[in-house]
Amino acid sequence: MGKINTVLGPIDPESLGITLAHEHIVAGYPGWECDPLARPYNQGKMIDVCLRSLEPAKNCGVNAIIDATPIDLSRDVDVMRGVSEKLQIHIVCATGRYMESGGNWMYLKQRQRNKIGDMKTELYESFMKELTNGIGQSGVKPGVIKVATGLNCIFPCEEATLRAAAQASKETGTPIITHTEDGTMGPEQADLLIGEGVSPQKIMIGHMCGNSSLDYQEDVLRRGVYIAFDRFGLDLFVPDQVRIATLVGLLGMGYADRIMMSQDFIACGHGRGGRPPEEEIKKVINWSFTNIFRNIIPALKQSGISDDQIKTMTVDNPKRFLIGI
Ligand SMILES: [Zn+2]
Repeated sequence: MGKINTVLGPIDPESLGITLAHEHIVAGYPGWECDPLARPYNQGKMIDVCLRSLEPAKNCGVNAIIDATPIDLSRDVDVMRGVSEKLQIHIVCATGRYMESGGNWMYLKQRQRNKIGDMKTELYESFMKELTNGIGQSGVKPGVIKVATGLNCIFPCEEATLRAAAQASKETGTPIITHTEDGTMGPEQADLLIGEGVSPQKIMIGHMCGNSSLDYQEDVLRRGVYIAFDRFGLDLFVPDQVRIATLVGLLGMGYADRIMMSQDFIACGHGRGGRPPEEEIKKVINWSFTNIFRNIIPALKQSGISDDQIKTMTVDNPKRFLIGI
């Protein structure tokens, strides 16, 4: 069996244990760096902030995290390494890019406009650089490639990203993790990647819990890919009760071996901080690295879901996905 790349180097897949399939250690939407009032970029302090929210997850048994932060959302492998060392938790980081409306595309668009470089080729070369030589000077090699698409549409930069990711995945064996906007375009993402030659077991279609239609879920699952129920706690999009009901339905249909769970939590965000109004906070009151252990798994068990099914989703599937079987 192959090794899995983590921010502290390759590990034996058997040592992964309980794995959160889609979270963020450090992330920030492009533009925060233009805010003169943004908090200073202090990596030591950021590691402390991350440890405070991750320690409770470690106490719940979490042993590994897939950090789904793409390059253009201020991914920080130094902070990830610090957190991984201090907490003794495995962190698998990503190469890849965010969706066209939320990512940082002006530079590549301008190069394409000036006919300096073709966007898909330049994305492919950038992913391959990180996958084979490591990120920057860190030597850290990503364990997944992140791609993303917009609401009800795959925009041109996103299509270039998916095709570049597929090529890099085929050449390196690296699995692909996706962002869907509100759970849309799952079948289209799967078709495009599989059409480019990526095997379905190397694809995890993300944020599928944003869509509560079992027909839609099956439409994606019948393609043989993994799906992620990875936004538990973000009740402002879809209430957890609805995510749980959809998940129980899929488990009843026998899909435990294709589903992973996570929370899309961000341990440390960039920018100037601030607090939303109370009524907004109520919609994310349970959002944390521990929501699935405190609230979701107990609710699943009450609905008759077995310990075996939960282990399949939290231990076996992330391991099989990361080694591509
Ligand atoms: Zn995410």
